[in-house]
Order: sequence, then structure tokens, then C-alpha cells
Amino acid sequence: MAMPHFEHHQPTSLEEALDILTRHGAEAKLMGGGTDLVMKMRAGALEPRHVVSLGRVAGLNRISYRDDDGLVIGGSTRISEVAAHPEVRRHYPALAHACSVMATPQIRNMGTVAGNLANAAPSADTAAPLLAYRASVVLVERGGRRQVKLTDFFKGPGLTDLEPGEILEAIRVPAPPNRCGSAYQRLSERSQVDIAAVGVAGFVALDLAGAIIGARLALSAVAPTPVRCPEAEALLEGQLPTPELLRRASVACVRASRPIDDLRASANYRRSMVQVLSLRVLEQCLALAKGESTPRV
Ligand SMILES: Cc1cc2nc3c(=O)[nH]c(=O)nc-3n(C[C@H](O)[C@H](O)[C@H](O)COP(=O)(O)OP(=O)(O)OC[C@H]3O[C@@H](n4cnc5c(N)ncnc54)[C@H](O)[C@@H]3O)c2cc1C
Repeated sequence: MAMPHFEHHQPTSLEEALDILTRHGAEAKLMGGGTDLVMKMRAGALEPRHVVSLGRVAGLNRISYRDDDGLVIGGSTRISEVAAHPEVRRHYPALAHACSVMATPQIRNMGTVAGNLANAAPSADTAAPLLAYRASVVLVERGGRRQVKLTDFFKGPGLTDLEPGEILEAIRVPAPPNRCGSAYQRLSERSQVDIAAVGVAGFVALDLAGAIIGARLALSAVAPTPVRCPEAEALLEGQLPTPELLRRASVACVRASRPIDDLRASANYRRSMVQVLSLRVLEQCLALAKGESTPRV
């Protein structure tokens, strides 16, 4: 299908981008890399009269890390830049892995992490690791800023807490504690070229005695939005990890899922794979937290 006619704006500051958004209201659409947006425009699912590209907005393409403040990923930062960033690879291996294996090199070089979140596909690969890391998003509009926990950001397939006129300015991720490990595993029919049929991310922190003092698990592609697994997390916290405990936690992860049958997989297969991947992710997290292995990024 031919692209509908639209005006392309390339603001160079956040203020200019917000002004354009305010001026054109519902007729304007933000664009990061355009890898989702342009597909939807080509398919006729979206017909914005104004496309506001964020690629030239000063200060929006950045990654910074500080031990006392954690990670900040700017709203136009490319997936491939996050995948390659040394501090991301060192402190957030689940996110680095997701950004390294999702999609194709071309898509990773154009697409942004903010666009992946704002697009709100249930299968968004960066969502599960960022949920496991307790990330928040900073949303800016002409009147000010607000910070929203990622757990409250996703509202449904393709739906988020973003208001018209708001830009996802940054993703903030707390700094990891000592003795922690994190991992992400995904399954898709044709390796990474396909959207994930199941994705599981985990984070585990241990105390000096080896007990679990922090556990977080998150799933993608198996519910209307990416989700955390509170029951599994509660089972793990405060306990010494044993094979039986990990098995019970992985079963609890299945209860957090609400998968559907679609072209990529049946609901039953997805449920089985949530259990398998959760167990593998937990084992990987524990091995990393104990210093028994190195991150697979
Ligand atoms: C061939 C192919 C393979 C793919 N494979 C995968 C995959 O394996 N895993 C996966 O998760 N995704 C995949 N995708 C989907 C897509 O590439 C990702 O979701 C990508 O991260 C989107 O980022 P973008 O910058 O291109 O978003 P865009 O297309 O520019 O925007 C997507 C949506 O987010 C909004 N938006 C963008 N940036 C902002 C911002 N800063 N503030 C507010 N709103 C914003 C836009 O208005 C739009 O609604 C694939 C896409 C293609 C075409």
C-alpha cells in the first residue's frame, strides 16, 4: 500500500518537538526509528498528517550509568547502541542480551528502546528485562515531567500511559546491588528474525549466606502486556535456593501468564515454555549472582 501524505518534522530540541506535538494534537505522531510506525502507516493502520522525528533532538540519544544513580537511556537511543554499551553489558546483561538478539541488525540499528516500549507490543523484547530491573519511564510534556514505573506504563496491546502531547524522554533503571544476576531468554520459531513467542527475564540478588534477598521475574508475549510474576517472586524471596524451590517458582510463573493461540505458538506450548524458560533463567541468574558464570550478552 502507498504511504499516505504527511509532513515530516525534524526538531532539534525537546521544546521544539513538544511545540509541534501541541500544535498538531491528534494529527501528529512521534517517530523514533520508524520500524513500527512506518509499517503501520504502510498498512494503512495509521494515517498521521504530521510525523515528528526524534532523531535530531539534542540530548535525547544518550546512555549514562552511575553507581549511585543507575542507568539512563535517552528517548531516541538505538537498540544496537544499548546492546553494545559496556556498562549495560556489565550491569544489565538481561537487557544487553535482549537488545543483541531481537529483530535483525538493520532493525536494531534504526529502532529505539523507547519506541519498543511506546509501541507496547505484548512481545516487546526490551520490556521483560526492564520490568525485571524495576525500570521507570520519564514522560515529558509542555507543562512538566512525570516518572512512571514500567509496571504501570503498559495498559493493553498497543496501549500505554503516554498522554497525547507527551514524549518518552528517558528510561531510568536502578543500579544493581552486589551479588546479583540477571538473564533473558526468548523463543521464536525462526531464531531472532521472528517476534518472540515467549520471553522470560529474571533478576536475583543474594545475601552473604546465599539466601535470595531480591527476586523478580517478567514475561513477554504471553499476556496482553508484558507482566511481572509476583507470586513466583514472593515464593523465592527470603529462601535458600533449592531445585524444588526453583521448580515451584517456575510453575508460579505459568500462573502469571495469560497466553493466546496465534500464528507463532499455541497457548499450551507457551505455558510449557514459560515454565522451562523461567527455570533456566533462574538458574542462570543464580550462577551469575554466585560468580559461577559470566553473563551471556
Ligand atoms: C522486521 C522486523 C522485526 C522486528 N523484530 C522485533 C523483535 O524481535 N522484537 C521486538 O520487540 N520488536 C521487533 N520489531 C518491532 C520494532 O522494531 C521495535 O518495536 C522497535 O524497538 C521500535 O522502535 P522505533 O524507534 O523504530 O519505534 P517507532 O516505529 O519510531 O515508534 C513506535 C511507536 O512508539 C512511539 N514512539 C517512539 N518513540 C517515542 C518516544 N520517545 N516517546 C513517545 N512515543 C514514542 C511512536 O509514536 C510509535 O507509536 C520488529 C520490527 C520489524 C519491522
